Amino acid sequence: MGRFRQLKTYITVVLAAAAVTVPTLSLLAQISDPALDLRNLDMNTPACLDFYQFANGGWIAGNPVPAAYPFWGSFNELQNRTDEALRDLLTEATQHPLGSTEQKVGLFYTTCVQADAVEQRGAAPLVATLTNLDAITDQSGLQAEIARLHDEGLTPLFSLRTAPDPQDSSTAIAHLSPDGLGLPDRNYYTRTDEASEQTRRAYVAHICRSFILLGVPDGEARKDANIVLSIETQLAQASMSLVDQRNPDQVTHLMKLTDLQALTPRFDWSAYCQRRGISTLTHLNVRQPAFFQAVDTLLDRVPLAEWPVYLKWQLVLRALPYLSDAFVEEQQRMNQVVEGSKELLPRWKRCVAHTQTLLGQAAGQLYAHHSLSAEAKQRALTLVGNVKAALRASIEKLDWLSEPTRMQALAKLDALVEKVGYPDRWLDYTSLMMSEGSFYDNVIRAATFATRRDVAMIGKPVDRTEWVLPPTLVNAYYDAAQNEIVVPAGILQPPLFNIAADDAVNYGSIGAVIGHELSHGFSDRGRQYDAKGNQRDWWTPEDTARFSARAKSVAQQFDSSPVTVGFRVNGELTLGENLADFAGLTVAYRALEETLRGKLADKRDGFTPEQRFFLGWAQVWCWNVRPEALRAMVLTNAHAPNNWRVNGPLANMPAFAQAFGCQPSDPMVRAENERARIW
Ligand SMILES: [Zn+2]
Repeated sequence: MGRFRQLKTYITVVLAAAAVTVPTLSLLAQISDPALDLRNLDMNTPACLDFYQFANGGWIAGNPVPAAYPFWGSFNELQNRTDEALRDLLTEATQHPLGSTEQKVGLFYTTCVQADAVEQRGAAPLVATLTNLDAITDQSGLQAEIARLHDEGLTPLFSLRTAPDPQDSSTAIAHLSPDGLGLPDRNYYTRTDEASEQTRRAYVAHICRSFILLGVPDGEARKDANIVLSIETQLAQASMSLVDQRNPDQVTHLMKLTDLQALTPRFDWSAYCQRRGISTLTHLNVRQPAFFQAVDTLLDRVPLAEWPVYLKWQLVLRALPYLSDAFVEEQQRMNQVVEGSKELLPRWKRCVAHTQTLLGQAAGQLYAHHSLSAEAKQRALTLVGNVKAALRASIEKLDWLSEPTRMQALAKLDALVEKVGYPDRWLDYTSLMMSEGSFYDNVIRAATFATRRDVAMIGKPVDRTEWVLPPTLVNAYYDAAQNEIVVPAGILQPPLFNIAADDAVNYGSIGAVIGHELSHGFSDRGRQYDAKGNQRDWWTPEDTARFSARAKSVAQQFDSSPVTVGFRVNGELTLGENLADFAGLTVAYRALEETLRGKLADKRDGFTPEQRFFLGWAQVWCWNVRPEALRAMVLTNAHAPNNWRVNGPLANMPAFAQAFGCQPSDPMVRAENERARIW
């Protein structure tokens, strides 16, 4: 799991965190009944040879990826159940009092599922903006249009978002980031392998066809598509790699607006701020100054006549899923290239996904208390408490940590805030107006509401009640700047969390996920923030060196993990998540041992509690994945592919070898001198 990131256009970034969802098949047969479904196992593969296959082989063989999906696994199953409940709730939501949040989100969904009205309007909703873009005649006009598109939630060239001040996490400031690419990441533009070349050719064809759908003549559309690729490639080349961005210091450059103005003389920041309604802005974090210098150069070097073409594409790209079928299908053609999905989801499923993307907190409010009983919430909170206590015990005992760092680590853990289920306070949607007419207009209204609300928080105290993820999402996160973990109701469902199941399975599944999130605060990135969420180094140099050496051994283990022909796991990119998996499993296992202490440890389904713990972890990550999606994941995702998330950390754990009686020579047991030891 990770800090929620803006979804890129084509790919479901964080595994299962994406709002894209839901098949019709019920794939994990009756998953809510047994804690472990023995049919999911592959008894022909020894547990000590390949535990992922042993635990999930039966499921993998019986559950191919449905046509509309890039991958399919237990997270999809959970999201599917939530989405079906949301569909029913959204369908009836327009009956809530006029002007209520429920009524507004219901209206949004209703205008989305009304296919005939959407079809009839075709590309008409874009005409006014396209006309404005055609009317650009100078730099000032160009920059005015960029600001206007940003206000509507688009992100040509860059994005401006509000987040805590790295030096004072209680105050929100503006952060400027590179943006404005149509492909998932910079390396889609810069890599020279055949698959990457092919994807770029498909992308140009996709831009071209989309412009033709808008009525642009063939020859001109082809020329325009190449202009777009050229501009985006230059933006990609000027931006940092995902690995470099993982270091908080590398993306923290606090400066005055006047400094930024001096750095980028061709972009009029004061006019931009005026247009965004933030003319009082005086200082901000420019995450990648070199990128903005490059943009400044591009503003001069790219002919003025080419900029409207790029902006039009940014508009169309974002609009594709919300327009008539021809546009939606065009987007699906490109999705197929990038992530492998072979057909569109049914309309209602797409509409539920759009609702969660654009009005996630409103949908969450509607869904609140739908599935999470008071008893389940209490049990989840107990689990969090026990796993946290195990992490505390672990920090108290670590032999490689000096006393000064240990004291600060414990203070940070004690200050950590846990949020489970739903936010205590719901977002105020009073100023959001929804229309009964045009779905696309409602999309723009919802997006504009979000950007205006976001920039209005600049300079204000950070609202600690706010959630970054909608509560309906199947995911969890640690927010370093708030020193908090958030476990939404969406993930508190079987098989990840099952109140009918024994402790062993729950500690292995949701317990280890909670341990994963808690440990992020002490992982390679998270440890660079203090108890208050300020970016500050509180480790002694010796402790930093010892931690880094231990972390490096994990990076090396994953670096040598093959994924698919020509692709290996990127140990640096996935380091933080792999450390969190390892730590989460270690502390959740200790919490289970603590819970079992003094109790009779009976076998169930033929497995000991210790074995069931590890089976619980493995079944969290069972999946099937298309090669395109796997490739995209390795290139862009901070999480390793699922089989490595299971086998990687377990091979470091003596408790695993002991539970299944593995021998030192078995593949699931790392040699003593290669074994990682951290927590
Ligand atoms: Zn994570």
